[in-house]
Amino acid sequence: MKQLKTNRSSNLYFESKKYLPGGVNSPVRAFKSVGRDPLFIAKAKGQYIFDVDGNRYIDYVGSWGPMILGHAHPQVVSAIKRAASDGTSFGAPTEREVEMAKLVRKMMPSVEVVRMVNSGTEATMSAVRLARAFTGKEKIVKFAGCYHGHFDSFLIKAGSGATTFGTPDSPGVPKTLAARTLVAEFNDLASVEKLFVDNPGEIAAIITEPVVGNMGVVIPRGNFLERLLEIAHANGALLILDEVMTGFRLACGGAQQIYELKPDLTTFGKIIGGGLPVGAYGGREEIMRMISPDGPVYQAGTLSGNPLAMAAGLAQLRMLDRQKSLYTKLEKLGARLEKGILRNLNKLGLGYQLNRAGSMFTLFFTPENVVDFTAALTSDTKKFGLYFSEMLKRGIYLPPSQFEAAFISAAHTPADIDRTISANYEALDAVGRKVTRSNLKVSI
Ligand SMILES: *Cc1c(COP(=O)(O)O)cnc(C)c1O
Repeated sequence: MKQLKTNRSSNLYFESKKYLPGGVNSPVRAFKSVGRDPLFIAKAKGQYIFDVDGNRYIDYVGSWGPMILGHAHPQVVSAIKRAASDGTSFGAPTEREVEMAKLVRKMMPSVEVVRMVNSGTEATMSAVRLARAFTGKEKIVKFAGCYHGHFDSFLIKAGSGATTFGTPDSPGVPKTLAARTLVAEFNDLASVEKLFVDNPGEIAAIITEPVVGNMGVVIPRGNFLERLLEIAHANGALLILDEVMTGFRLACGGAQQIYELKPDLTTFGKIIGGGLPVGAYGGREEIMRMISPDGPVYQAGTLSGNPLAMAAGLAQLRMLDRQKSLYTKLEKLGARLEKGILRNLNKLGLGYQLNRAGSMFTLFFTPENVVDFTAALTSDTKKFGLYFSEMLKRGIYLPPSQFEAAFISAAHTPADIDRTISANYEALDAVGRKVTRSNLKVSI
């Protein structure tokens, strides 16, 4: 196996570290948890991503979720170009924002009224402010390992980058605010019920990822989500479904379509922006009318509903809405990959767990059935790091952390999946041998 040449990436990283914290603008990009320098990306097209050294990879990061149709989709690119030539921002309402709101409501009927923002973080923090205002209560319930962006109230046992770095509680979060965030275990209804018993009349909302992506992929069991809605309503609280990752990904109507759920509020990000910075929150009209200028809950944004962002998002959502067969294709590719990886694990005698929901998947380096954060944390992250590098060498670009979801796009082909399955076999085999060798060294 030839070594990967990444000199230019490493030189850029050396330079960038002087000027940017950790050399990056978002922590997981630094590849810290897989023990190697990050790749600097030059361009991407379809299912491929190219680094500055000219290496090509089959991409399973997809910009962390947005690129469900693949990179630089011609229709998305031309929509952005057309919008750009008419001016990049006006700070005034535009027709595209009306079209976007209508389309979101059509694809996800629980979202009767929607407000556009610029990121998933903005969406969730605004939704929580709204839930607090609507219920007149201050506490929120979140699940360990779920990530809802970097707003203070959510950096308590948060997934994604916060997990990898082992600093789930960030300094700088006021203790008084953190005390208003209560943490339950995903897939454990008793842990939720207990919080409501212990904090009577104080909880404004439960917020959750419906299918979790941010501790790696974790799937809700039985009627877990349905019961969350019932528990919230029985206690005068709201359910905020954070579909920043799952929205328009698991189905045209998101996870709420699959689980037949009507949450009070839903948050969006990633796919809704077609690769540009967009977030949104929406839901029941009665609640959403409390937002300024209809109501007293203040929330604003200079660039919210930006014409370029709306053009990109609309182009992508329209294709997803019109071609529902894309979701069948994504499921087929996902199933093919799952089958291949399970076959590999079986052949190699490895008991690792593969969790998959449609086009989202995580291979956990643990024999435990990963149903919650506690189980996810039993994964061997050192082995994952070695595996990540072995896959990279074989031209496969995975999320550089055990606790992230990998994404398949509609641009991937069965041949890409088969190449990935072969690489997976070789990489797992190589990791196994590496670990055995180093174990031997220790015993000598
Ligand atoms: C990515 C993500 C966020 C944060 O979105 P940003 O656009 O990164 O701020 C929030 N919730 C979930 C479920 C996410 O996956």
